Amino acid sequence: MIIYGTGAKKFGVKRLKGIKCENCESNEMHITGYSKYVHIFWIPLFPVSKKIFTICGNCEEELPKKHIPKRTLERIKLEKSGFKIPFYLFSGSAIIIALISWGMYSIDAHDKEVAYNMANPEPKDVLVFKNDDETYYFGEVQEVKNDTLQLNFCNYVYEGGTPSEYSYEKEKNKVGDFYNRKIFYISQRDIDSLYNAGDIYDLYRKTND
Ligand SMILES: [Zn+2]
Repeated sequence: MIIYGTGAKKFGVKRLKGIKCENCESNEMHITGYSKYVHIFWIPLFPVSKKIFTICGNCEEELPKKHIPKRTLERIKLEKSGFKIPFYLFSGSAIIIALISWGMYSIDAHDKEVAYNMANPEPKDVLVFKNDDETYYFGEVQEVKNDTLQLNFCNYVYEGGTPSEYSYEKEKNKVGDFYNRKIFYISQRDIDSLYNAGDIYDLYRKTND
């Protein structure tokens, strides 16, 4: 469930020197800004509007723009340039952009790593083969000799959608005969073309052995 909505934030209070309150004649006049913003899980995503008010520090009368006297408005125009919507009202957008960039970066890094490992297979690597019907099966590299891989294939077909290394381990540990002991020989060239055709989907390599 995504919780979102709008909020309003007061920003920038500034004294208006030489301006008197029309209500109480005090010269404690300030301008202040309100920004309406869209939030997602209470993190401001982006501002949608900006409104300027005057507020009297003495009688606390708050006037929206349409009720501010002309002379005060002229003054506000001069001050307004310093009234920027604070950046944190964009923080949700900044977080989303950062997450997307990070996600794209890590997908790219993972793809590069798999492509590199696929071209340089090692014993214990697990190749994930994809069938035409979106099921998967696994081949464990036993040995690599003269550009030929010696593989054991699994006895089972994985039908739970795209497998992760975690789901692979889980399936493997369920049974004692996950892999067939029969050795298959596949040339590195065939591995390359199967990988390029998408028939090999992934390669798992244990890095902390
Ligand atoms: Zn006043």
